Amino acid sequence: MASMQQFENFTASSLYCEKCKAAMPVRERLLLVLPDRELYDYLCTECGSSVGSREVTAGDKLMAQASAARRARRPLAPLDLLP
Ligand SMILES: [Zn+2]
Repeated sequence: MASMQQFENFTASSLYCEKCKAAMPVRERLLLVLPDRELYDYLCTECGSSVGSREVTAGDKLMAQASAARRARRPLAPLDLLP
C-alpha cells in the first residue's frame, strides 16, 4: 500500500510552489462537485498560484472521516473545515 502512503503525503498542508521555490502552506479549494467525487484545488497561501489538485471519491471521504475519528488527536481535519 505504498501508493496510499504517498497519496496521504500529497494531501499535507504544505506543497512545493514553483513560484516561491519552496514548500508553502496551501489552501484547499473545492473546485468541482460530481455525483461520485469532489475535485479540490490547492493554492499557495503566499502567491495564490495553484500547486496541485486532488480528487476525493465518496469512499475516500468516508475512510478519511473514519480514520480521523479513530485517531481523534487531530480534531480539525482539512475536510471538516469545508462547508
Ligand atoms: Zn507560492
